[in-house]
Amino acid sequence: MTVSATLAANEAVAARRAAGQEVLALGFGEAGIPVHPLLRQRLTKAAGQTGYGPVAGIGPAREAAAGYWTRRAIPTEADQVLLGPGSKPLLFALLHAAGGDVVLPKPAWVSYAAQSQLLGRDPIRVPVPAGEGGVPDAEAMDAAVREARAAGRDPRIVVVTLPDNPTGRLASEQSVKALCEAARELDLIIAADEIYRDLVFEPGAFPSPAAWAPERTVTTTSLSKNYALGGWRVGAARFPASPLGERLRESVRGTASELWSSTPMPMQHAAAYAWSDPQELVERVALARNLHGSVANAVAEVFTGAGCEVMPPQGGFYVWADFAPLRDSLAARRGIATGADLTRVLLERFGIVVLPGSAFGDDPEALTVRVAVPGIYGESDSERLAALVSGD
Ligand code: PLP
Repeated sequence: MTVSATLAANEAVAARRAAGQEVLALGFGEAGIPVHPLLRQRLTKAAGQTGYGPVAGIGPAREAAAGYWTRRAIPTEADQVLLGPGSKPLLFALLHAAGGDVVLPKPAWVSYAAQSQLLGRDPIRVPVPAGEGGVPDAEAMDAAVREARAAGRDPRIVVVTLPDNPTGRLASEQSVKALCEAARELDLIIAADEIYRDLVFEPGAFPSPAAWAPERTVTTTSLSKNYALGGWRVGAARFPASPLGERLRESVRGTASELWSSTPMPMQHAAAYAWSDPQELVERVALARNLHGSVANAVAEVFTGAGCEVMPPQGGFYVWADFAPLRDSLAARRGIATGADLTRVLLERFGIVVLPGSAFGDDPEALTVRVAVPGIYGESDSERLAALVSGD
């Protein structure tokens, strides 16, 4: 294994800063929103809980997560929920539980493909519907899965990301419904990674696959993005109330018992509080969401103005820019032919860190990059960030 592209970008930033170089770090997806004092209180109050906890997570945290989903129109009971140290290991255990090949949108978040490879299987990549992100095109998936099966492969699970990292797009209801129908037809499990769910910029219905394919959808969330608490390492998975859901949950619980034993107890108490949606925290998330939205839109405008094709961001904190319209001038002026060339030149000549689209499974010759906008906040949004900590 090599270190994840996003974590590697982070390390490159740290090394350059340590060497005294100025770096604009737009590679790693971390928002730097200060922790709310009430959440900090919950954490410190539980600091004395030093023992291992139940593998599935403590009751109050599982109940709170069930309430979180139920209030978001996915009715959930506590015993459908497992907690984990972030959603990443839960997703890995889920891919393992599915036990076959993994279908991914192209592009998709870096770790799904790496996790699939850890399980000894190259992912099956399916393009997303035109102008969308985070969900494979249903017809293309149908063709790809049938072709893979005919070739002796065993696709069993498709991963979707709503809203998406890396494209910043929220898949349309139409595409999600079509995906659900195709998954049912093909008997695929759906992993719905909804880690950025509370960071959708415009209000409106959220197209959760659990609404249309409740019997086969496993949904994940965590505190990492909505609350900018990635370092606290707490996430949750919701399994369907179906025989398939029960089998998957038991398999994930088994993997959890052998890999991480339990989620750190103080974090679970903080999560129980966060997932109960107290007004103060809901307001904090809304402030963060507005900040991400306004900065992401501003960044998208800059790229559009420069002649790139940009997918207008809809949620989370990423902008996906395609420099293809500038291909000739980039090649002529700087010898840039690929997204990897582009990111190298941006770093070496301008001290700007972004990630190439190829890190997310886009074609190596594509001139796409993902920009994580929170790296800009330090300077341009200090007042809004200060407003977030008032009272701390
Ligand atoms: N899913 C997506 C789409 C992400 O972007 C990330 C983090 O970057 C994760 C999952 C992992 O999050 P966690 O901190 O909950 O493990």
